[in-house]
Amino acid sequence: MPGPEMSVCEIERWLREDDPQALATLWEVADELRRRYVGDEVHIRGLLEISNNCARSCAYCGLRAENVNLPRYRLTWKEILEGAATTAALGWGTIVMQAGEDYGITREWLAEVIAEIKRRTDLAVTLSMGERPLEDLRAWREAGADRYLLRFETSDPGLYARIHPPLREGEPNRLEQLEVLRELGYEAGGGVMIGIPGQSYASLARDIAIFRAMDMDMIGVGPFIPNPDTPAGCGELPPLPEGEQVPATDRMGYKVVALTRIVRPDANIPATTALATVNRREGRWLGLQRGANVIMPNVTPRRYREMYRLYPGKAIPEETADATADRLAKQLGEIGRTVAAGRGDRRRMLC
Ligand code: SF4
Repeated sequence: MPGPEMSVCEIERWLREDDPQALATLWEVADELRRRYVGDEVHIRGLLEISNNCARSCAYCGLRAENVNLPRYRLTWKEILEGAATTAALGWGTIVMQAGEDYGITREWLAEVIAEIKRRTDLAVTLSMGERPLEDLRAWREAGADRYLLRFETSDPGLYARIHPPLREGEPNRLEQLEVLRELGYEAGGGVMIGIPGQSYASLARDIAIFRAMDMDMIGVGPFIPNPDTPAGCGELPPLPEGEQVPATDRMGYKVVALTRIVRPDANIPATTALATVNRREGRWLGLQRGANVIMPNVTPRRYREMYRLYPGKAIPEETADATADRLAKQLGEIGRTVAAGRGDRRRMLC
């Protein structure tokens, strides 16, 4: 039976498990822990993609600086405040502002935007702005930002180096940056990509154990989806020999969501857009029934959404925010869940 204290070897064994009955047990245990620790409520966060400019060259990401096939945009102050207002009006408790590592977004400017959102709304503010300098992170925290997402993608140093070239000599890796975010008082969120070319089962099992060891507040995981405008998407990163390479499937995604819930029962875990993209019909809903308790619908103005192209075919419904809210409430009801009220901060519980 899988449990919170599973060893790395046991986690790896579950990642390799394909027997339907055994997997049914895995889903059941994860769902029961989800119910016991974070309840039946689902936190809805409004996702506002404020810029698709990026100084980085991550090997898997369509926003990488070298990708000349992507038109670039940056939202205005007014557009961001409208996104926050929409999120607040729908009763969703958090705005997530996400961007590439865009140094056109200055420390002072974003601090003012955060402070203005806090003046106008009761929203929690989550940032996902990449590996910004300490002074930026501190200024944004002082301006009122509550949480910071920084997926480390893999804890394997060799694989990390292959997919994530450094911007500056001697910079800390993302795991080290997550510790800094914690010290600054943010709720800190990490996460990984599943099925990166060259990722082994043992490596992915260690990632899940690290979620537990670092006691992460938020954990986002999703399958690798190849983008032909990137080195990883056009075959420049060789996979491991057959049988060893972790497959980038929705089923592997559910396994990682379930194991993550089991090792970190009180964390906030989203059913990610990547899961919804690899299985459009039910990826998001199966994620919620196998450990997840958060969803992040897109509130970016529609004319920009197609340009935030981390990978092709992203599941982004063409509907108004009001229609999204109605649809989600109905769909959550169909699986016995409700829309949470309030900010949805992590409620720490003894595990
Ligand atoms: S993963 Fe993030 S930092 Fe890396 S290229 Fe994409 S947007 Fe930039």
